[in-house]
Amino acid sequence: MAIFITDECINCGACEPECPNNAIYEGGVEWSIAEGTGVQGDYELEDGSVTDAETEQSPVSDEFYYIVPDKCTECKGFHEEPQCAAVCPVDCCVPDPDREETEEVLLERKDRLHL
Ligand code: SF4
Ligand code: SF4
Repeated sequence: MAIFITDECINCGACEPECPNNAIYEGGVEWSIAEGTGVQGDYELEDGSVTDAETEQSPVSDEFYYIVPDKCTECKGFHEEPQCAAVCPVDCCVPDPDREETEEVLLERKDRLHL
């Protein structure tokens, strides 16, 4: 499963620098695939659409820190456990039951993000 941040987030920012995929952004900040990854040029998102990696995308949340599902690998390939969940003081980085993903899918994403 991908990890997501619930509305219990207190916006402390502790999780953001811990993410190996730069998948975590402050609320209201635009995200891009290229930021913190090795991706350049066209990139196919999980919904099948293709975007330029540098394109700034709309924030997932304007109120709380958020995780970009297309960039989260549950830390597979880097760490034994999700680093955001490990450092969050209020335990609001939790598995998203609507996004169950196999280890194979997560590792493939990691490879796509870090060529
Ligand atoms: S689980 Fe890992 S890859 Fe996913 S957002 Fe948290 S720190 Fe980043
Ligand atoms: S560590 Fe937890 S409380 Fe702090 S910004 Fe991240 S998700 Fe929010």
